[in-house]
Amino acid sequence: MNYFPLFANLRNKPVLVVGAGNIACRKIELLRKTGAHINVVAKAACEQALQWHDEGVISLRLGEFQTSDLDGQWLVVAATENSAVNCAVEQAAVERQLLVNVVDDRELSHFVVPSVIDRHPVQVAISTGGEAPVLARSLRAQLEAQLPSSLGRLATLMGHWRDAVKQKLKRPGQRRQFWEQVLASAVPQLVYQEQDQRAEASMLRLLNSDDSPERDNNGPERGHVSLVGAGPGDPELLTIKALQRIQTADVVYYDNLVSDDVLELIRRDADRVYVGKKAGAHSCSQSHIQEQLRDAALAGKRVVRLKGGDPFVFGRGGEELEVLAEAGVSFDVVPGITAAAATAAYTGIPLTHRDYSHSAILVTGHGKSAQGEDSSDVDWQALARSKQTLAIYMGLKKSPVIAEQLIAHGRSPQTPLVIVERATTDKQRQISGVLKDLPQLVESHGVESPAMILIGEVCQLAGRYAWFGDQPVDEQLIDESQPVKQQASGF
Ligand code: SAH
Repeated sequence: MNYFPLFANLRNKPVLVVGAGNIACRKIELLRKTGAHINVVAKAACEQALQWHDEGVISLRLGEFQTSDLDGQWLVVAATENSAVNCAVEQAAVERQLLVNVVDDRELSHFVVPSVIDRHPVQVAISTGGEAPVLARSLRAQLEAQLPSSLGRLATLMGHWRDAVKQKLKRPGQRRQFWEQVLASAVPQLVYQEQDQRAEASMLRLLNSDDSPERDNNGPERGHVSLVGAGPGDPELLTIKALQRIQTADVVYYDNLVSDDVLELIRRDADRVYVGKKAGAHSCSQSHIQEQLRDAALAGKRVVRLKGGDPFVFGRGGEELEVLAEAGVSFDVVPGITAAAATAAYTGIPLTHRDYSHSAILVTGHGKSAQGEDSSDVDWQALARSKQTLAIYMGLKKSPVIAEQLIAHGRSPQTPLVIVERATTDKQRQISGVLKDLPQLVESHGVESPAMILIGEVCQLAGRYAWFGDQPVDEQLIDESQPVKQQASGF
């Protein structure tokens, strides 16, 4: 170990920063958070430093560095652009046995400033000993994504209870066991969900119960269900919250829309239960899924129901919550990137656009009311209006009806469209064409689920802003001599 890691309490301690340019300001920014008394000496100062001086955040002396500037300082940072000055600062500091950091100069520095993840009062510091600062920053980004933003609040809550726990549990071993029990209980999740009162109540119950608090049937420790949107496939499109939920789950119920890459990110020790409807595999009825979620939570588990896209967009998320609400099971919902938004982004076709589309409608080709050939419940008139984008989920089987009805209700047969299969994955495939050809396009290209159908004037931009994967298949070039603005509208 080349460096001794430590966290120094600099509150009200004088520290010296030599230099007052942008780089110095970044160091000052960090030092400010510690409550140190920051003295700055520099020949010239940037605006930010001058402002801090005016606000009394730093003491600034404009002029040459002098060894007497080191008088009474605890720590020194040399951050000028002049290496001779940095060297002089280092030498003077060595003579006085003061620790100095010379920015971007490992040889001259006695200490390094690590990359920091700040979840006050929790801090995680990362250092590569100055070897690879970019690697340190990349590690930091990875850890940032995994540490809940409210980790600090959990630490603070635990801090508040320390004395009470000490009073009640006399032996250190007992106390350690208790805290381990707290971390394994619902308390962290409750804090992360900003349910601090319930977290406090749980702590109290844990402290007052003689054995495992998890078995207390009074509510808060009865487990929890998170309804989590897994996004369209690309695992990097998961939200940070979704990632945290799947990495702390005891059991994850998922279906076939959740990509393998996302499943890879689930905590290794968690049970994974497939509840999808893949051809040939055992398929689960919706009510059975709902019961499983409820029962797992009632057994004290941290349950994640992982759904493709967003759980509240054609995801039956509402039905699943109903059963949980009835049983008094606590739950939360983590939104995901829905297929319409993902498809738009990954094809470069905006869902709305000032020139082409003033609204977008998310619609299913396979809803409760459109199960059979009877599509009379669908408001085709509204869907057929021009200057709007239709994002059709589960529309492959119904594509003949969709094309026929939209045209019958006035949408131009030449309205451009794109069909996007497996958007955001390495298997993404995009087919462009016009409305009248929709069923043939689906048929001739053998399009398979999951696929999104985008219909609307804005689809004439297909290909123009394409940035992802292979270039799209352009089945029928749009006739640009026919301005979309003159298309017949359905009303
Ligand atoms: N809750 C999901 C939608 C579930 S319905 C969401 O918000 O995205 C399933 C339909 O979503 C599929 O039939 C398909 O139309 C669409 N879909 C889901 N993932 C998709 C993907 N990666 N590419 C294209 N369409 C997708």
